[in-house]
Amino acid sequence: MSTALLNYTAAAASDRGRKRPSNEDAFGFSVEHGVYLVCDGMGGAAAGEIASSLAVDEILRMLERHSGNQGGPKTASMPLLAEEAILAANEAIFSRSQRNYRLSGMGTTLVGLLVDERRAWVFNVGDSRCYRLRKRRLEQITADHSLVEEQVRLGRMTRSEALRSPLKNVITRALGTQSRVTPDIFELEAEPGDMFLLCSDGLTRELTDPLIESLLAIDLPLETLCVRLVEAAKKAGGHDNITAILVRARE
Ligand code: CA
Repeated sequence: MSTALLNYTAAAASDRGRKRPSNEDAFGFSVEHGVYLVCDGMGGAAAGEIASSLAVDEILRMLERHSGNQGGPKTASMPLLAEEAILAANEAIFSRSQRNYRLSGMGTTLVGLLVDERRAWVFNVGDSRCYRLRKRRLEQITADHSLVEEQVRLGRMTRSEALRSPLKNVITRALGTQSRVTPDIFELEAEPGDMFLLCSDGLTRELTDPLIESLLAIDLPLETLCVRLVEAAKKAGGHDNITAILVRARE
């Protein structure tokens, strides 16, 4: 097996879509520090935008600082560090909403990817997703924290019923809406050629997984692929804000 180092490249695109007046999604990444984040904010007025950008800023800041101080991330501590950063972001959003009644109840989803050579960690709260494309096959890594997803898992609802359900917007976990939050964290081994997609539900509500897979299977620059994903979601309706980050691993 090759032991060559993996190099990561990334690109992102975000669009408010065709129906929403503003974009409450936020994203951020640092290829240097191996951190990639997408957040989808919720709340009245501008609260959703505040929650999603607070989460991105807080988590990026904590993960970049750690990496800078320690002379590079340490594999064993990465999931702990991710959890610490998520809890800090939760606290930052929650305490801000407690101090300002107009921001009361604001929150955000989060999906993130942390990479350190061949080790990768994916974490999520809510229904923003991470997928991995490996050998042209798309696989969903995260499980949505949503009411319909839980019903499907319990066998009380089929996938197609879930897609049509009036309750499909209800998420069961969010960042910042309560004093505590529990993220899911997945540990993976990255291989050369792997491509990770982090996205908000504005993408996955409009495009089926097979369609996303076929759009990503074309050999084009990451920037072009991101724009094509967002444009396809807009063309399919663009009912919500749309955000996609693509991260590619190469030897
Ligand atoms: Ca959304």
